[in-house]
Amino acid sequence: MNGQTNVDVAIVGAGISGLMAAGVLVAGGRRVTLFDKGRSVGGRLATRRLGAGRADHGAQFFTVRDPEFGAWVERWQETGMVYTWAHGWSDGSLAATPPDGHPRYAVRGGMNQLAKELAAQVAAQGAEIITGVRVTAVAPQGAGWLLTGDDGRSFTAGAVIMTAPVPQTLALLDAGATPLTPDDRAGLERIRYAPALCGLYVVEGEVHLPAPGAVQRPDADFAWFADNRRKGISPDATVITVHAGGDWSAAHYDAPDAKLSAAFERALRPWLAADAWIAEEQIKRWRYAAPTVLHPDRFLRIEAHAPLLIGGDAFGAPRVEGAALSGLAMGHALG
Ligand SMILES: Cc1cc2nc3c(=O)[nH]c(=O)nc-3n(C[C@H](O)[C@H](O)[C@H](O)COP(=O)(O)OP(=O)(O)OC[C@H]3O[C@@H](n4cnc5c(N)ncnc54)[C@H](O)[C@@H]3O)c2cc1C
Repeated sequence: MNGQTNVDVAIVGAGISGLMAAGVLVAGGRRVTLFDKGRSVGGRLATRRLGAGRADHGAQFFTVRDPEFGAWVERWQETGMVYTWAHGWSDGSLAATPPDGHPRYAVRGGMNQLAKELAAQVAAQGAEIITGVRVTAVAPQGAGWLLTGDDGRSFTAGAVIMTAPVPQTLALLDAGATPLTPDDRAGLERIRYAPALCGLYVVEGEVHLPAPGAVQRPDADFAWFADNRRKGISPDATVITVHAGGDWSAAHYDAPDAKLSAAFERALRPWLAADAWIAEEQIKRWRYAAPTVLHPDRFLRIEAHAPLLIGGDAFGAPRVEGAALSGLAMGHALG
């Protein structure tokens, strides 16, 4: 059919939101195709290799507030994939973190492993996962939707789930001339994200971050320092993740890497032994790191001739759990 592949449900984005939606749909017997522009799945569940080490450079941990997500996390803990990393974070003023009772969960081998595992599970149940392809437009076509990929391929789908950061989702809909009601458009255009700048440092020598190896200062220019070796994901090298806060990241987003790295290193230096040195470094920019103005619902179903659901972490709660719950809700809505 004109070189177009027909799928039942197309999911744009194979981050936690898209993967959780896919899990519900394949369990219900739907035929699902996931698209991600990244080389691999995971989106902001991102882990990178540096030298002999490894570092989480997007989400650092996750928390549980909702029992539905809690049940998933329990299962992931039972299989050993997820573990409790800490029960709170020091602001740096104490040598160890006083526990606040709430578990912060991490993933064995790095946060990206959770996405890889979920992707393997849905693929085993028949989902197709297409990585390295950017969807460039989502347009109404016949009784469903037409998705165009930047590799020249196109796909028709009976239903679409969109999980990219909302400004990117809006751009795809506009590129396909998909009409939106003024209310739907206004609800989507209201959503805002803060950026995050991230520095990764392979350190030779001692690092003195308070136990269990991290400092969190939500209102500071440099909001997060974490030792990936003590986290347990980088046994062969000490790699430190540093995140700048939203305001600092917005103000310095376009600064050259060298300038950013110098600022990150100055912030990191007090946690390093006098003779410790940095063997390797990388800067990573997240334009849409954390939603700051959210949609009140777990997803938006646009008024159209065929189902098109928009979700992700800007729908409900601005974190891994919110993204997962949004995905689950979209899966149930179509399942
Ligand atoms: C630096 C940083 C630190 C964070 N720390 C934490 C934390 O400690 N705890 C916590 O709970 N949360 C944290 N978060 C937030 C958490 O990572 C996100 O809430 C969650 O991972 C979002 O999942 P998602 O599936 O909604 O979106 P994403 O993970 O962004 O997935 C969307 C996917 O869509 C793909 N995509 C976009 N456009 C297209 C296109 N046109 N075609 C094909 N694919 C496309 C992207 O490649 C991406 O993989 C952090 C985020 C960042 C960036």
